[in-house]
Amino acid sequence: MNQWLLSYDDFVPDQEGLREALCVVGNGYFATRGALPESQAGDVHYPGTYVAGLYNRLSSVVQGRTVENESIVNVPNWLVLRFRIVVDGVPGPWLDEHSAEVAEHRIQLDLRQGVLSRFTRFIDEHGRGLLVTQRRLVSMDRVHLAALETTFVAEGFDGELEILSALDGNVANTGVARYHDLPSQHLERDSTRVSQDGTISLNVVTTQSHVSVALAAQTLLRRGGKILDHQVGYVEEPGWVASRHRVAICADEAVTVEKVISLFTGRDHAITEPAVEARDLLTNNRDGFGDLLQKHVTAWRHLWKRFDLEIGSNHDTAQLLHLHLFHALTTVSQHVAMLDVGVPARGLHGEAYRGHVFWDELFIFPLFSVRMPELTRSLLLYRYRRLDQARQNAQAEGYAGAMFPWQSGSNGREETQTMHLNPRSGRWLPDASRLQRHINAAVAYNVWQYYQATGDGEFLRFYGAEMVIEIARFWASIATHDPECDRYSICGVMGPDEYHEGYPDRSGPGLDDNAYTNLMAVWCLCRALEVLEVLAPASATELRERLEVTDDEVARWEDVSTRMRICFHEAPDGSGPVISQFAGFDDLAELDWDSYRRRYGDIARLDRILEAEGDSPNNYQALKQADVLMLFYLLTAEELSGLFERLGYEWDGALIPRTIAYYEARTSHGSTLSRVVQSWLHARGDRTRSWRHFGQALHSDVDDIQGGTTREGIHLGAMAGTIDLVQRCYSGLELRGDVLRLNPAIPPDMEHLALGLRYRAHTVRLHITNHAVQVAVDPGHEAAIDIEVGGDRRCLRPGESITFAISEPN
Ligand code: BGC
Repeated sequence: MNQWLLSYDDFVPDQEGLREALCVVGNGYFATRGALPESQAGDVHYPGTYVAGLYNRLSSVVQGRTVENESIVNVPNWLVLRFRIVVDGVPGPWLDEHSAEVAEHRIQLDLRQGVLSRFTRFIDEHGRGLLVTQRRLVSMDRVHLAALETTFVAEGFDGELEILSALDGNVANTGVARYHDLPSQHLERDSTRVSQDGTISLNVVTTQSHVSVALAAQTLLRRGGKILDHQVGYVEEPGWVASRHRVAICADEAVTVEKVISLFTGRDHAITEPAVEARDLLTNNRDGFGDLLQKHVTAWRHLWKRFDLEIGSNHDTAQLLHLHLFHALTTVSQHVAMLDVGVPARGLHGEAYRGHVFWDELFIFPLFSVRMPELTRSLLLYRYRRLDQARQNAQAEGYAGAMFPWQSGSNGREETQTMHLNPRSGRWLPDASRLQRHINAAVAYNVWQYYQATGDGEFLRFYGAEMVIEIARFWASIATHDPECDRYSICGVMGPDEYHEGYPDRSGPGLDDNAYTNLMAVWCLCRALEVLEVLAPASATELRERLEVTDDEVARWEDVSTRMRICFHEAPDGSGPVISQFAGFDDLAELDWDSYRRRYGDIARLDRILEAEGDSPNNYQALKQADVLMLFYLLTAEELSGLFERLGYEWDGALIPRTIAYYEARTSHGSTLSRVVQSWLHARGDRTRSWRHFGQALHSDVDDIQGGTTREGIHLGAMAGTIDLVQRCYSGLELRGDVLRLNPAIPPDMEHLALGLRYRAHTVRLHITNHAVQVAVDPGHEAAIDIEVGGDRRCLRPGESITFAISEPN
């Protein structure tokens, strides 16, 4: 078994959607699902290609209300390659799983090389066998290029082969069954063309955002490595252009078809016009599949070097971590540093959540910040460019500062749908999830973490500080003062736990004093105060002048950040207080978990089950995912106790384990993010439990634990989160001040952990066991760095290495 391969040895129609999502190949600029090139969109297959940041809006009427949804666009299908056997001049049917027997079928994703291969043995209606071997890549070297190589071998018969190589613009966004009642046609046909050199090209335009998308393709045939002269014709239909190739095929001899395509959109930099660029690139391209492959593999090799991760553990774990890294890198590669794109929660892998950007960044950025920090920087700039829209969002709701949307797309407007469909009950329901104002804390937190990890003062000066301040302003304005207890409250919001949208006895959505939101708001206000200190005085003054930050306003930040309300209630076992998820959480009924598990088996989507029963999760102490517990995931005990002290609440160290135990027992883990958090929380106290949650998070997509969601796109937060668990949590990595700190607690099943980090322009290599930590700094840079392991601080020069002995954690 190979840790760098994901393989399937059969064709299972039911599994196809899942496998297509897990076999996406991409380069951060665009990505293509692992659908078979001869397949068409339907219940089994869904050949989608998505370009990062390419969105379009469509309106529809749902229950008498006009709603507008913005979606990442499924662009024309470049893969299309159909083939059929021609005997005595008579063509048989185009071969696929319907017209022929699939005698053998294997697909294999090579994670190291970024190549998806497929082998199928078709037996046609006359018993003739045709072997089809394919390899495809979306070039990591040349972002606008992709290629498909197909080799045909006729099993013991002579005849002819007909091949149709097309660009199909007649596609729509139909990848998610729940959205089928909504319009899906995002593309208007523009033109097709066949150039003299045989290049076919297709242009389409998005219906509302008016972005041109242009593709061009060249297809050539080879026998024994030599280009084959053969009969070629062309087909042009509305939204469709193809080259049609006829070639003699002799028994047991191979014919290879190479299709190279280029893809440009009107969002690209340094272009005149997408169609011209797409054609020119192919006309000037001298590389066949083999050359493209070689350069692509080199680019992937370099990328893997930057993201190397070796764990001494069972094969399964290592393979899944590679798979997760692979998909993180197909979505966010070095090419993203040049683009204005955010990171979609479901990757460039499907249409769930319409390609929107969520707070999942919190789980994704840390992976990049210690490997290729310029990627985090670029993704943070996606937010910065939408700061003005965030200001408008805040203003529209009567707040000051900037309010980032819960779901973000093209321009930073709130993209969260207002109605959602419960597939279990078939009912459309109001969706209040946009009230998750905590997204703003995530944006500020990410800015700060990036700054901490990199020391990138220029980023802070030009962009980061402004975001932190505008977010702090928002928090200061949404907080309301209660004179009775002289505390501030934040009312009418939702926390991360999406099962709770409102109170059972109150009309209208929203909850009061969600502890996670309130404490993170305080944290943001503290950072706004701090950032004015961190910046050079002249920069701080400039920023204050430009944003018109008055002394009174700063005084209000100070005031709100010392008097925010946090609610507590007694744990039912009488062991002491726990933090209340929101005011009144403990008044809700306890759910009979066993009874629901007995009746429904998998109750991860308890919300849908309860709604279908005419009930609501609002009535119960039942959570979809970590909410209060996010505090312990993001903040150290030291930071939290500092916040408690600031707020005048008594800090008791036992509060953390008590609160963890209380909520863990009440969480269904309906979000894949939840397991990541849970694993993190137990990493030091209960390593076996941590490893168990880690294992579940690791299997989220490969086993499709949410029963059908992975086919609609991978869960990038959980994928990146699992890598981060290994990289930052089990190693105990902390980048604070100017010191790289390590405090490892690697799980019992992991013998060692080896990885290379990028820290302050150095490459630092770590080899960690439960007995020793070896740190080596690559040569090539002047400055020395401070490393601290278990309180022992050393200064390391480039080219030096050191081994710290450590004692095994409990
Ligand atoms: C989770 C959110 C998450 C979103 C996108 C939801 O199911 O509850 O926390 O941001 O998925 O991944």
